[in-house]
Amino acid sequence: MEADKRKRFGLTTKIFISLILGSFTGIFLHYFIPGGYIKDTVITGGIFYIFGNGFLRLMQMLVVPLVFCSLVCGSAAVGDTATLGKVGVKTLLFYLVTTAVAITVAVLVGNIINPGTGLDTSGIEAAEISIGQSVGLADTILNIIPKNPIAALASGDMLPTILFALIVGVILAKLGSQTETVANFFGQFNDIMMEMTGMVMQVAPIGVFCLIANTFSGIGFKAFFPLFKYMLGVLITLIIHCFVVYTGFLKVLTGLSPFIFIKKFMPVMSFAFSTATSNATIPLSIETLERKMGISRRISSFTIPLGATINMDGTAIMQGVAVVFAAQAYGIDLGPADYITVIATATLASIGTAGVPGVGLITLSMVFASVGLPVEAIALIMGIDRILDMTRTAVNITGDAVCTAIVASQNGDIDREVFYSKSQPDI
Ligand code: ASP
Repeated sequence: MEADKRKRFGLTTKIFISLILGSFTGIFLHYFIPGGYIKDTVITGGIFYIFGNGFLRLMQMLVVPLVFCSLVCGSAAVGDTATLGKVGVKTLLFYLVTTAVAITVAVLVGNIINPGTGLDTSGIEAAEISIGQSVGLADTILNIIPKNPIAALASGDMLPTILFALIVGVILAKLGSQTETVANFFGQFNDIMMEMTGMVMQVAPIGVFCLIANTFSGIGFKAFFPLFKYMLGVLITLIIHCFVVYTGFLKVLTGLSPFIFIKKFMPVMSFAFSTATSNATIPLSIETLERKMGISRRISSFTIPLGATINMDGTAIMQGVAVVFAAQAYGIDLGPADYITVIATATLASIGTAGVPGVGLITLSMVFASVGLPVEAIALIMGIDRILDMTRTAVNITGDAVCTAIVASQNGDIDREVFYSKSQPDI
């Protein structure tokens, strides 16, 4: 009886409950508990910080070994370079097309909502801007080739890691029995990493609760009001992109039920929402796609880490609305040619930047600069960016997962029985 009851609360439900409870706790702390030693040092800066970030670190700890091993095994299993090439081209095409669609819709919604017209900027607290360096396109392409693969692994650089792992996998397949020991090693290490992911996920509800409570206790609602229209524009477009564009692509190109897809993928979205980092979500995403939806790691081990780095539709959406917002707030007229530049720059800017919190604001400076908008405008939206960062990260990783499902389905790498099965294994 007891065991039955416990079983009914699967991990999915627990993560979801943590998300809601964490948000309420954070808002309660923000408004009802005065700042001081207990709140700032013991609760938010102590317990929540340690447990929240401890969990995040555990997830990050999994990323590089898991991506590397499963990618080596995945490409060794696919074997021939022609199939790998086909998967690669389809994936890149999907990522580019969806990002361009995302930003186009964002610009349209922005022009309907007019987030920056008649804005009273005095009500907005402008943050200090310190925008990091962004890398040019030529170097971005060159950086895919690691000068030193071990350094790329050590610093968690996704694209060079992916390239190196792919090459190792292809050679393992080519050499066959000659390199059996190494192939077995990676296969077994991969099993260890999967087991570890399962173990770390058991503490996810606590981690998610602490991360979310900390975020909301810091931001409250006040800062949002002057920028309400801007936020609304971003959120509406994110919702359209996730629930219309993605589900449409999924239905048309795979015939799979988008409803079941979203339902099973929800814990991954909740996790991305609470951490605002696509990169840390990679292990959970791969596990969920395989165990709950029957999507083979042969595909996901390639498409998910690649997507976390180069496919950021949610981020592009924020940038599209931000461009309209800044142009209106500063009274700068943008023509169709400017918008095309924005679409191209935002699509390219996301390539080569890792999926970590706040990176969208850094590439936004490139987008603004491409059409002559003042970079200072970023300071206006910085204060409220965290909540949008969380939401767009959830969309970013959903796009990667939808692409994975589509490529896997076309490759015959999806077990539809698992996809439609009602039993939801605890990851
Ligand atoms: N936080 C986002 C991600 O990890 C990137 C961004 O938009 O800042 O996907």
